[in-house]
Formats: sequence, structure tokens, C-alpha cells
Amino acid sequence: MKVLFATPEAYPFAKTGGLADVSGSLPIALRKLGCEISVIMPYYASVRRYTEAFPVCVQDLPVTLGNRLLPADIRHGWLDHKIPIYFVQRDEFYDRTNLYGTPKGDYFDNAERFIYFCKAVINWCQTANLQPDIIHCNDWQTALIPAMMRFGVDRYYFDTTATVFTIHNIAYQGIFDVDVYALTGLPWELFVPEGLEFWGRVNFMKGGIIYSDYINTVSQKHSKEIQTPEFGFGLDGVLRTYSHKLVGILNGADYEVWDPETDPLIAANYSKEDLSGKRKCKRDLLDIYGLPQELFERPLLSVISRLVEQKGVDLYPPIMDKLLAEDIGFVLLGTGEEKYHKYFMDLAKKYPNKVGVRIAYDNALAHKIEAGADIFLMPSRYEPGGLNQIYSMRYGTVPVVRATGGLDDTVQDYDPETNTGTGFKFGPYDPEAFLNSILRAIKLYDDKERWNALVLRGMEEDFSWEKSAKKYMELYEKSLAERKARL
Ligand code: ADP
Repeated sequence: MKVLFATPEAYPFAKTGGLADVSGSLPIALRKLGCEISVIMPYYASVRRYTEAFPVCVQDLPVTLGNRLLPADIRHGWLDHKIPIYFVQRDEFYDRTNLYGTPKGDYFDNAERFIYFCKAVINWCQTANLQPDIIHCNDWQTALIPAMMRFGVDRYYFDTTATVFTIHNIAYQGIFDVDVYALTGLPWELFVPEGLEFWGRVNFMKGGIIYSDYINTVSQKHSKEIQTPEFGFGLDGVLRTYSHKLVGILNGADYEVWDPETDPLIAANYSKEDLSGKRKCKRDLLDIYGLPQELFERPLLSVISRLVEQKGVDLYPPIMDKLLAEDIGFVLLGTGEEKYHKYFMDLAKKYPNKVGVRIAYDNALAHKIEAGADIFLMPSRYEPGGLNQIYSMRYGTVPVVRATGGLDDTVQDYDPETNTGTGFKFGPYDPEAFLNSILRAIKLYDDKERWNALVLRGMEEDFSWEKSAKKYMELYEKSLAERKARL
């Protein structure tokens, strides 16, 4: 099975969120199952910073955008030393500080940047004579590839190539004014409500849904949720129409990167057999945030998050004064919207001995938080899969989550009657419900025996890629067989 995995970001080269973790680890798991996989993504400034050493393998690949010919260079490197990864280099589009925009908003030319990327992937397949069995596309930035394969100039080239489209985050659909349509090179017949048109504009993700052979999202629960108006972000009707080709496959965690036993980024390693290293990590974390060591015996709550509405950030302001009346510490790492930056920075000023805030993107600190904190908060409004709760459990940091999407699929609510569960869940999107579930956690923290058992149950959970990668393989096989049968 020959697979080309097209993605807008992949760890360790470029990352804004969980999609990068998935793109950096799922291909490794697929290769172990015998899949001949390669990855393709844009050549951002962060890739150049990561390594200058990846050579150009194709120079001046012709790519047209409207009536402009804008050649790309393709660079060839390796993911995990084994998996070929190709980078589309066109510096005017990708050589920027961020991937998609700044805290003030998206880059103005994101439509051009990612139409260009989709076209480069198509052209590169043909130039390199790479006839993949599957092109696996991820999120809106790659979502025009299936339509371009079926309706582009050289459509016959891809007759025996099937497509799988993964929706990692349905809220980001790539919706643009109709002017950009001409840049896609797609026929105008597709610009209809049954195609790429979305209320008079172009919707890239809708194209991914309609023109792929199969679609999936990253948890079972979310694959159902997105077919409802509450979670479909306007695409629920389209998803219901195509529900026969929609499945849910839970994200896996890369325990090579996220495991307290081997993690080189934390103050001390530890395992479920010996948790003493976790105590060192907690002291280290308090120092990093300049919080008093007197908090050491008290529950240390933590957040690592994109600071955007999706992550439930609005639930904090109504509860923080009440919560901080408790004898606890609170640390946060995140970036996102400026109004949230300001809120949390003000909170740290108000409670200097209890609250530590870093408005930054800092991978090493994210690991230190997972290791050093006691409780991890994830009150998402919606959560397709979610990885941080999975990492938290492995690091013995008890998650408090809202019962939505992948959070609901991966965390079991603590039940005091049976002394079971791996975290704390609440249902309604409501500050009081969130506060109550945090208070349940804080209360249990003082019952050392039950708390330690809860920590250990979380650490024993296994969300490695193995199972989910097998499901992707099955999906690839089914997509390919059905495509060939249609010829
Ligand atoms: P999403 O993809 O919606 O952002 P996930 O929980 O699936 O949420 O994945 C988030 C990933 O991004 C995790 O690996 C997390 O550690 C990382 N992350 C998020 N914000 C930051 C940050 N400010 N600094 C470092 N890592 C971050």
C-alpha cells in the first residue's frame, strides 16, 4: 500500500496543535504495519530553522495559480530517519514567522497559499511519477486535493488513486470569497451548492468531504457530533448526506515523545512503579513559574491550550475567584486571542502567589507541565480528539474535561462508589459545572490513597497508535478496493 500523506503541519518541523502530533506519529505507526508512506507539507520558516540540511530534489516544479506560473522547489528529508518527507518551498508563501496568521488574525493570502500547496502536491505526484494508492489529506488546507485529482487537467493519472480526508477540526473550513475560485483551476460546474459553493463563497473543507472516497474524524463520538447543527459548523447537512463514507478513528499518542519514563525534557523521569520523579518535576515547575514551594503539598492545576473559544476559555473568568479561594496553585501555557492573553496576565498579577501564566508556544514547557502538575484542565466547547488529556493520563496528571468528542471517548469519570475512573467529567457547557468538577478533583486530592489509585489508573491507559493505525490501514484498503471496482 503506497500512501502519500498531505498535511499542513507535522511535528517536529512545524506545529500549532494536535494535527502536527498526528502527522508526526501516525505515518510511523503505519510504516510499522508495512505501509509504504511518505509525507508532504509546506516548507515554513520553522522547518528551515529545524534543519537547513534537507536538499532540493526537484527544482522549479511548475505550478500555476490563475494565470501566473509560480514554480516550487521540493525538498526531501526524513521523518524519524525512515519516512520520506517532502517540503514544498515557495518562500513568498511559507517563509513566515507563523503557519497561518498572527494573534491579530489569519494571513490575508491563506487561500492562495493553500490552493498553491494542493496544486504543488498534484503536480509533484506526476513529475516524480509517484502513483500512490492513497492520498491522505488532512484538514481544509489540503482539502482541495481530491477535487483537483478528479476534475483537474490530468485527472486520468489518478484513476487508481483513492483519497481519504481527515477532519481534525471542523471549525476551520477554509471559507473564502468567490474571487479565489479561479485560482483553483477547477471547472465552474463545481461551484454549486452540491459542490464547493457555500452560501456564495468557496468552502475548501466541503470539497474534501464531497470528493474524497472516505472521510474520518478523530474520535467516534465526534464523527456523530459533527452531523448535528450544534457541532457541524454549517456542514452538518453535507456530512449527513455523506454519512455512508464517514467514520471515526481515535487519535493515538506517540509515547516515544510523551512518556515520563524517557522524556528528556522533564526534571526527572518516573514511572507508575516509582513516582518520586514526579515530585521533583512539581518542584521544578513551581520554580519555573516563580510560585512558592509552599504550594508543593497542594494540588497544582494546569492548562496547556490554544487560547481560543473552542477550548472553553470563556469558562474561566466566571469561576477563577471562587476557585482561587481554595488552597491551590494554577499554571497556564497558551497563545491565541489577545483578549484571553490579557485576562490571564491580569489574573497572574492579581494572584502572584497562586497563579503562573506564560503566553507563549513552548514545547519543552508543555512537557514540564504535564509532568509537574497534578490536575489538567480541558473544558473544551468541542474537542474532535484531543491529545493533551491522553498525555496527562500517561504523566499521572488527572484530567478534568468536558464530556465532548474525544474527551468523552478517552476519559472515564471518577466514581466514588466503585472507586473507578481516570478523571473528572462534566456535561453542560457551564462555568458552575466546570467548577464543581474541579472541586471534586481538589477534594479527592487530599485522600491520598484514592488519589494515587486514580493517578495510576490513568497511567495504565494505553492510547498508542497501534490500534488506530490498523483502522486507517483498513480504511485505505476499503477506499482503494472500491475505487478500483468503479473503474
Ligand atoms: P488542538 O490540536 O485542538 O490544539 P490537542 O489537545 O489535540 O488540541 O493538541 C494540542 C497539542 O499542542 C499538544 O501537543 C499540546 O501540548 C500542544 N500545545 C498547545 N498549545 C501549546 C503551547 N502554547 N505551547 C506548547 N505546546 C502547546
